[in-house]
Amino acid sequence: APYEPKYKTVMLKVSGEALMGPHGFGVDPQVLLSVAEEVAAATQAGVRIAIVVGGGNFFRGADSLEGLERATGDYVGMLATVMNALCLQSALEKVGVETRVQTAIEMREVAEPYIRRRAISHLQEGRVVIFGAGTGNPFFTTDTAAALRAAEVNAEVFLKATKVDGVYDSDPFKNPNARRYDQLSYRQVCFDSLNVMDETAITLCKENNIPVIVFNIMVRASPVERAGLSRCFC
Ligand code: UDP
Repeated sequence: APYEPKYKTVMLKVSGEALMGPHGFGVDPQVLLSVAEEVAAATQAGVRIAIVVGGGNFFRGADSLEGLERATGDYVGMLATVMNALCLQSALEKVGVETRVQTAIEMREVAEPYIRRRAISHLQEGRVVIFGAGTGNPFFTTDTAAALRAAEVNAEVFLKATKVDGVYDSDPFKNPNARRYDQLSYRQVCFDSLNVMDETAITLCKENNIPVIVFNIMVRASPVERAGLSRCFC
């Protein structure tokens, strides 16, 4: 391998918004390809990669349609994540990475159902496993699904792909003086309203000692550069 990877098993969370690229809706082929190539490189270096995809680029719960009940909106949101999972699977297979999609809501014609031990064995075989349909439950988020699956497959780190290169004290797109944190505690993430992820997700990471690393998915970076990003620790 060209370098010794720091982590053997990682959870990569890719939000729907990140997959959307510069558009207002759907999936951007350039972003898909770029994510696929970086994942391929990490796989070749021997890293086992589990991915949870969001769905906000297609549907974001009841907010997306007036009059929709919360639970129903959430189910639609979970179905949206499966569309992203299939698109990402296709992109990964194009660059030669063997991939399985597992969904938390059964749809056997398009993907495997989620089976923990099977997911682990895919990872051991060098396959990338993409988890679709979140946790399968309304009232949760895909960040929580990612934290849950990370704990289930014994991932050592939660890599959160966003549109910025870390956690800032205010929105860096609006405030040019926004300051980036090098390191944060889980408590700070929960109580300082930093909008990193929801409390359920961060609590799961904290309880399972899974560090969270926030990075910019729009920038292609080397693993060494990636190492300098904001972290959330205990
Ligand atoms: N969702 C859900 N349960 C889950 C995961 C997701 O109900 O376990 C729904 C929820 O409505 C959410 C939508 O699916 O708004 C899309 O997921 P999310 O907003 O987390 O996607 P992202 O922001 O990462 O694109």
